[in-house]
Amino acid sequence: MALIQIRGLRKTFGSVTAVAGITLDIESGEFITLLGPSGSGKTTVLRMIAGFENPDEGVITLGEEEITHLPPFDRDVNTVFQDYALFPHMTIQENVEYGLRTRKVAKAERARQALEAITSVKLAHVADRLPHQLSGGQRQRIALARALVLRPKVLLLDEPLGALDRQLREEMQIELKRIQREAGITFIFVTHDQEEAMRMSDRIVVFNEGRIEQVGTPEEVYERPATRFVAGFLGVSNILEGEASRAVGGSGASISIRPERIRIEPDSYKSSGEESALVGLLTEVAYLGANTIFIIEADAGARISVTKLNQELPSQNVRFATGDRVLAVWRKNHASEISV
Ligand code: ATP
Repeated sequence: MALIQIRGLRKTFGSVTAVAGITLDIESGEFITLLGPSGSGKTTVLRMIAGFENPDEGVITLGEEEITHLPPFDRDVNTVFQDYALFPHMTIQENVEYGLRTRKVAKAERARQALEAITSVKLAHVADRLPHQLSGGQRQRIALARALVLRPKVLLLDEPLGALDRQLREEMQIELKRIQREAGITFIFVTHDQEEAMRMSDRIVVFNEGRIEQVGTPEEVYERPATRFVAGFLGVSNILEGEASRAVGGSGASISIRPERIRIEPDSYKSSGEESALVGLLTEVAYLGANTIFIIEADAGARISVTKLNQELPSQNVRFATGDRVLAVWRKNHASEISV
C-alpha cells in the first residue's frame, strides 16, 4: 500500500481553481517531485498534505490514517520552505535542537541527535556559529537538518533551492538526494525547474492548471510524454500532426519526436523498416558551440528541429547547407503518440 494516498483532491480560492481534483499515490522512501509552471497548483497540493490548507473535496491518507483535516502538528510530515527562517540569536546547534526541545527530549539526547543531523548535512564544523555567519547554501542545509532531526515520515520541500545561485543549487541537488537516500525519508519536492526535477527524482508528477498531466520516472516523462504539454515542458519536442503524422505511418494522432533523436541524411537515403523519414528543405543551420541546430521545412507540412551534438569540429565536418533537400530520419521507437 502506498504511504500517501491522495484521492479526488480539490481546492478553489474564490473563482480560481488551484487544484482541480487530483489522485496520486506516493510510495514510502521515494523522492517524488511536483513539477509545473507557476500557478499550476503544486504549492497548494503541498500545503494540503502539510495541513496548512483545507481541501474543498477529496481525501488524504498517510499510512493507515486519514489526515485530510488534521492540524499540521498532528501529522507525521515536516516542511522545508524556501525562506528558511532560522532563529537569528540561536547558534546552529540550538536552532536544530529547538524542535526536540518543544518535544521535551532530554538535554543530552537532544544535543546528540542535533549534532547527528548537522553532521548528516556536513556542517558539524559550524555548529557553534550564528546563522548570519553562514552562507546561503549552508543556511539551507541547516534548515534541512532542523527538519530531519524530527525524523518525519515525510518531508515536504517547497522550492527549497530557489534562492541559491546556479552552482550552489547544483551542489545542493546532489546533496539533497544523498541525504534523502541515507535517511530513507519520503521527499515531496516542489519545483518549476525541469532539470532539477530530472536530476533528483525517482518519479515526477507534471502539473498543469491544477491537474496532473503525467506521472512517471524522469525517463518515462521525457521519452514517452503523454500530452503535448508534457512534451513541451520537459525539454523541446517536435510535434507532427495531420498530414505529417500520416506521412510517417501514424494514425493522424499527434506524434512527439525529440530534436536530438533526429539525424539528417541526403534525400537519396533509403530508410530502413525501423526508421521514419520526412523529406524537406533545410532552411536554417545554427552553430551553438556544443550543438548545431538544423531546421527542416518538411514537404508534409511540419517544421522540424534537429539537434546535433558537435563531437567533431563542425567546420571540418560540413555535410549539409541551407537550401539542400534533405531527409529527417529517426528510429520509430524514439517517437511517441501523444493524446492531447
Ligand atoms: P508557484 O510555482 O508560482 O508557487 P504553484 O504551481 O505552486 O505556483 P499555487 O501556489 O498552488 O501554484 O497556486 C495555484 C493557483 O491558486 C494560482 O492561481 C494562485 O494564484 C492561486 N492561489 C494560491 N493560493 C491562494 C490564496 N491563498 N488565495 C488566493 N489564490 C491563491
